[in-house]
Amino acid sequence: MPTTTPALSVPAAGQPFGAIELERRDLRDDDVRIDIKWAGICHSDIHTIREEWGQTPFPLTPGHEIAGIVTEVGSAVTRHKVGDRVGIGCMVDSCGECEQCKNGNEQYCEKGAVFTYASEGYDGELTQGGYAQAIVASERFVLSIPEGIELDEAAPLLCAGITTYAPLKRWGADKGAKVAVVGMGGLGHLGVKIAAAMGAEVTVLSRSTDKSADAKSYGAADHLSTKDAKTFDKLAGTFDLILNTVSADLPMEDYLRLLKPFGAMVNVGLPSKPYSIAPGSLVHGDKAVAGSLIGGIPATQEMLNFCAEHGIGATIERIDAGQVDDAYDKVVAGDVRYRYVIDTATIGK
Ligand code: NAP
Ligand code: ZN
Repeated sequence: MPTTTPALSVPAAGQPFGAIELERRDLRDDDVRIDIKWAGICHSDIHTIREEWGQTPFPLTPGHEIAGIVTEVGSAVTRHKVGDRVGIGCMVDSCGECEQCKNGNEQYCEKGAVFTYASEGYDGELTQGGYAQAIVASERFVLSIPEGIELDEAAPLLCAGITTYAPLKRWGADKGAKVAVVGMGGLGHLGVKIAAAMGAEVTVLSRSTDKSADAKSYGAADHLSTKDAKTFDKLAGTFDLILNTVSADLPMEDYLRLLKPFGAMVNVGLPSKPYSIAPGSLVHGDKAVAGSLIGGIPATQEMLNFCAEHGIGATIERIDAGQVDDAYDKVVAGDVRYRYVIDTATIGK
C-alpha cells in the first residue's frame, strides 16, 4: 500500500502553501525511502509556483534540494542502506540506457529525464518534490552526503551546488583563471565558494556592495557593484569565464565586454525573456555564450565529495513550514543569506 507523508502543497495557481498528506509509491526493488530532514528553496521553485515558465500542474509540492536519512530500501538496492545520510536533487529517473545516461548526463536523457517535481514519471504519475517529510526514489538518483557536511548545509548543494560546480569545471575555473560570478544568491554564493576552492581568482558582480564582506569570506578576491558604471570600464577584457546566476534579465552585451578574447559567458539563470546579443559582440574576440543545466548524477556525487574535502556547505537560514510563502517574497527581493532551508519536521505542526 502506498504510504502518505506530511507535505507542503500549493493547491492552485496564486494560492498559498498548505499542509497536506502526500502519497508516496510503494517501494520498487531499486527504491529507497528517505526521511527528509531539510529542503532548500531554489529560485526555480518560485519560477514554477508563480508560473513564470508557463503553466504549472497543480496541486504541487516543489523542492529539489533534499537531504535526509534512508529509512527503507528495496530488495535490489546496493548503493544505500538504512541510516545513510543522503540527498536528492533535481532528477528522480531517466532511461539509464541512452548515450547521455551512459555518459552520466541523465539531465539530457533521450527518453526525457524525470524531474523531481512537476514532471511526468514513466509510470504516468506527476512527480511531487521535497517540501515533505518523506520521498521514495530509485537508488540511482540518491546521492551520498559525506560526513563533514551538515544535512541542512548540504541540502542546497543538491541543486545550487551542482548547477555551479558543473559549468565551473567544464569551462576551466582552475588555477590562474579569472572568473566572474554574476549575482550572489543561492547559486552564486556556492559558485564563489566552489570556484575559489578550484583555484580561480574570483570577482563577484552584484547589484550593490552589501554582500562584499561575505563574498570575500567565501574566497572572492573582489566584489563590485554593477550599479556603478565605472565597474564595467574597470573590468573590460578581464575574465576568462563569467558565470551568470541571475534570475532576471541582464544587459548581456555589457557583460560580454568584460571577457578576454576566447572567453565564455555561461548562463545558468533562467529568466523568461530572450537574451539580446549583437553578433559582433561575440565575433570580435571569439567569445562564447553558453548555458548549463544542473549536472549529471556522477558529477553531483563528485561535487558533494569536493565540497566535503574543501569544507564547503551552503550558507543557510533555517525556516519553519509556516514561513515558506514569506520566504518566497524575500528570495525575490534578494533578502536571504543565502539559502532558505525548510525544517520539514514543522510541516503540519
Ligand atoms: P536567488 O537566490 O534569487 O539569486 C539570484 C541572484 O541574482 C540574487 O541574489 C541577486 O544577486 C541577482 N539578481 C536578482 N534579481 C536581479 C535583477 N533584477 N537584476 C540583477 N541581478 C539580480 O536565485 P537562485 O536560486 O540562485 O537561482 C538563480 C537562477 O538560476 C534562477 O533563475 C533559477 O531558476 C536558475 N536555476 C538554474 C538552474 C540550472 O540548472 N541552470 C538550476 C537552479 C536554478 P545580487 O544581490 O548579488 O545582485
Ligand atoms: Zn534548483
